[in-house]
Amino acid sequence: MEENKNPDRNELGFSDGLPYGDPSPKKRFKKRSGANELSIEDLAKGVRTGDRGLLARAITLIESNAEHHFQKGQQLLQKLLPDSGKSIRIGITGVPGAGKSTFIEAFGTYLCEQGYRVAVLAVDPSSSISGGSILGDKTRMGELANNPRAFIRPSPSEGKLGGVHRKTRETMLVCEAAGFDVILIETVGVGQSEVVVRNMVDFFMLVVLTGAGDELQGMKKGIMELADAIVVNKADGNNKPLAEKTREEYKRIVHFLQPYTKGWPTQVTTCSALYYEGIDGVWKIINDFEKQTKQSGVFDARRRIQTKEWMYSMIVDQLQASFFHHPNVKLLLPKLENEVITGDRTVTSAVESLFKAYLG
Ligand code: GDP
Repeated sequence: MEENKNPDRNELGFSDGLPYGDPSPKKRFKKRSGANELSIEDLAKGVRTGDRGLLARAITLIESNAEHHFQKGQQLLQKLLPDSGKSIRIGITGVPGAGKSTFIEAFGTYLCEQGYRVAVLAVDPSSSISGGSILGDKTRMGELANNPRAFIRPSPSEGKLGGVHRKTRETMLVCEAAGFDVILIETVGVGQSEVVVRNMVDFFMLVVLTGAGDELQGMKKGIMELADAIVVNKADGNNKPLAEKTREEYKRIVHFLQPYTKGWPTQVTTCSALYYEGIDGVWKIINDFEKQTKQSGVFDARRRIQTKEWMYSMIVDQLQASFFHHPNVKLLLPKLENEVITGDRTVTSAVESLFKAYLG
């Protein structure tokens, strides 16, 4: 696993979120790159040939919050784009404790054994709050992390101005260019991140617990409506009959829901991630899904829509960055923020002033 030894430094030798206007970013880039400066072409070549060190550096470049890295990252992406798109992209969600990471460990290991190369990424809505990340814990997915066919990347740090979703999507494309056949994107089943991940992947699965009477009631129907499959985990030992019962309950419910993918009724299955049972069944469902949706054209149509949506979200990202980095806005914002908080100014008036300052 491309573990970053020093959490304050990324592989390029930069601290994450390097402030704009750092006096010598290029120098440091060169310094860490050895005698010859590592060009975008070199990085792209390294990624394509599956060099894990260079893959990690390429992703770090894309994840960087520094403005000059953004341009380089986009150049790199442009070069790699023709080699991307060939994987199956799978999103995995579920409440904390449902067994997502145990499942990914088992599923990823199974896929590696089948000869696939697997990349695991994460979208973690809590990392900016907790300072941690769902894949940050080194003890998680230990076996998969050590598998030479697998690549695990913790969620990118949020950065002040967001963009974490862009980073995950672009990291996925880089991993595809590096030859990974299966991309697994994990997200915690809370908040908005499921929708974001749903919009990045081909297939979306919800991992749930057995004995989910309470969970069924508490679970947002909305998340179930996003899923192509619901996987009842922990179907082992004494829990097995309960898992079967839970599966039947979910089956009854999804019957009344509109399937997210046209022509694909949401599948419900059981597995034991801990004992590696039913993992092949999940893969079979995904294979059937891929085959069927490719035949019907739904697969490609979805990817095209996702690319279009990506463009729009990038416009919003860039507008936001351009606004908040504008010197006039930077100057005015703290004062106006304070006036709004103390009630000396209305929000509308503050926003109006900021836009005037932004537009010159
Ligand atoms: P996550 O928060 O969704 O990533 O859940 P984890 O993968 O960390 O699992 C939470 C707990 O459930 C851990 O103690 C796991 O060992 C346990 N667990 C996960 N999968 C299974 C399973 O299939 N069977 C049993 N019995 N326990 C499991």
